[in-house]
Amino acid sequence: MCLLCNSTSESRDHLYFDCPFSWGIWSVLASRCDLNPERVWSRVMNQLLDLTMDRLKDT
Ligand SMILES: [Zn+2]
Repeated sequence: MCLLCNSTSESRDHLYFDCPFSWGIWSVLASRCDLNPERVWSRVMNQLLDLTMDRLKDT
């Protein structure tokens, strides 16, 4: 069981995006980074990689 919400089994997608507790944190963090908060792992990874690539282009 997820220790954060105690409502469903733990999985990568639940812990990062489906759990109400972690989603609350991620959605605020993503907004502060000017990201549209996504709930799909592969899309989030692409967003974060784009941030890294943009930062590398600036140096
Ligand atoms: Zn949970």
